[in-house]
Amino acid sequence: MKCPVDKDDMMVVEHQRIELDYCLRCSGVWFDAQELELLVSSLSNEKQPESQIDLLTPKPAKVDEGRRKCPVCSRKMNKVWLGKEPRVLIDSCPHGDGLWFDGGELHQIMHQIKDGGKHEIISFLSETFKAEHAADSQAQSH
Ligand SMILES: [Zn+2]
Ligand SMILES: [Zn+2]
Repeated sequence: MKCPVDKDDMMVVEHQRIELDYCLRCSGVWFDAQELELLVSSLSNEKQPESQIDLLTPKPAKVDEGRRKCPVCSRKMNKVWLGKEPRVLIDSCPHGDGLWFDGGELHQIMHQIKDGGKHEIISFLSETFKAEHAADSQAQSH
């Protein structure tokens, strides 16, 4: 699958039945709709359901940010808000193929979920996709 930002071939990252496409160049991550459901269903086994973010019902956003094309069907994706404040602006395929997270955005969401409860998949995703974002936040704290 090609990255919707820079058209590089994305790398497949696999963990416990969840398969994600990851771009090494821009650190963006593509979630197929199915993968997202798998992630949500594995999270719903958590003992603290109130801490979960409803990943399946993002809210439409009205912004001027450039729209990207879905890596699956090439339709222009919609901008949607996800998570708690500060919310994360992501891209969603209008055809329901999946969601695109820019570099660092997935980590922000995972960080929000992680705050409410520990889950092995969340730890894995946070660790795997944190690199670039961690460098950013260090630079900002000075
Ligand atoms: Zn990329
Ligand atoms: Zn699509």
